[in-house]
Amino acid sequence: MAASTVSSRRGADSPRLVSGIEAAVAAPDAYLSGAAFHIDPTDTRLTDKVRAAVMTAPRAPIELREIPWPALEPGSAMLRTRFSEVCGTDVHLHHGKLAGVPYPIIPGHVSVGEIAAMRGELRDVHGVPFKEGDMVTFLDEHETCGKCYECLVTKQTTRCAKRKVYGITYGVADGPLGGWADHIWMKPGVKLLRFPKGVDPALFIAGGCGLVTSIHAVERGEVSLGKSVAVLGAGPVGIAAAALARLAGAHPVIVIGAPQGRLDFVATMGATHGISLDVPHEERAAQVRALTNGRGVDVVIEAAGDPRALPQALDLVRDGGRVVIAGQYTDSGDVSVNPHSQVNRKHVEIRGCWGCDFSHFYRAVAVLGEQGKSLPWAGAVSERYTLERAGEALAAVERRDVIKAVIAP
Ligand SMILES: [Zn+2]
Ligand SMILES: [Zn+2]
Repeated sequence: MAASTVSSRRGADSPRLVSGIEAAVAAPDAYLSGAAFHIDPTDTRLTDKVRAAVMTAPRAPIELREIPWPALEPGSAMLRTRFSEVCGTDVHLHHGKLAGVPYPIIPGHVSVGEIAAMRGELRDVHGVPFKEGDMVTFLDEHETCGKCYECLVTKQTTRCAKRKVYGITYGVADGPLGGWADHIWMKPGVKLLRFPKGVDPALFIAGGCGLVTSIHAVERGEVSLGKSVAVLGAGPVGIAAAALARLAGAHPVIVIGAPQGRLDFVATMGATHGISLDVPHEERAAQVRALTNGRGVDVVIEAAGDPRALPQALDLVRDGGRVVIAGQYTDSGDVSVNPHSQVNRKHVEIRGCWGCDFSHFYRAVAVLGEQGKSLPWAGAVSERYTLERAGEALAAVERRDVIKAVIAP
């Protein structure tokens, strides 16, 4: 009989390779139900260790490490990683710009994989059970408590104090809980999302964190039919935000960013106008006004990550318009704003957009399955990298050589 991995019920420290007969002796109930272990003779990589690319500390080189395969308690699963993303946030993590990160960590918060092993029953939001081999993604936010003021009263689970995020606020000490690894542990309670037929996981990861984040940003902006929109930034979030704004019926959709190659790409994704950062801000603002009868846009979505984008956004929005700040997930410093002329007198609404909840993941997959199908999302992925090359991928994203790098272990 082929060797299989069984996770002992006695604890996380004793994963090992055993035969099926040994598994039956070690955990007879689980063996009978078939729930505790998984046999896949074709998978030569299924071992008792998870290989992971680890960010040991800010600025330190990425290291390849083996960490123990966790004990799968009921309601948990292991994904065999197909793709994980290298996001701009990972660059910021590498620069130590986010508080409360328990280095060493396995980065990779938005990932795709197939269920390689599971224990007990897991169901999707429609009540359909998951099975081994299902291709899924998952909400990277975990352990939102459902009991606190933010969860129950203000209903903004992304602000729950108990919230943990895969690849960001879980450390290596917590287990294989990041996507830059050959397997990812789905702890009980993780919200899995199966890809419907016709949705290519490669397309989803090409949109990735930027797609999910911009679903939230466009929702916060209340972008709708006939609204004019400016997107600041032509990175993954800006590109996806422009695509979604156009799909939502906005016009014009003006993207301000750099370099020119990204502006060319975002034009194929639905942006109606691109303005280069090489053009001085005053001139860019004049171009935006010229496109909106001298008024400025209804909605600005900030996806630039540079604090200076905020006062610029306030100059581009029309009186009584809305600015959504989606690009400042990490602290890039302060900036000065004139509260009188740029906010109060303009009667402007400024909204933050922090993290994402399950609805944004769900809708991201739905959009890719239908109205977004014809857009060239895959064009955002310049290169795929193995785990061994994760450091290279991170450096390429940092240098902005690539729009997006994907880890394919
Ligand atoms: Zn809570
Ligand atoms: Zn991200």
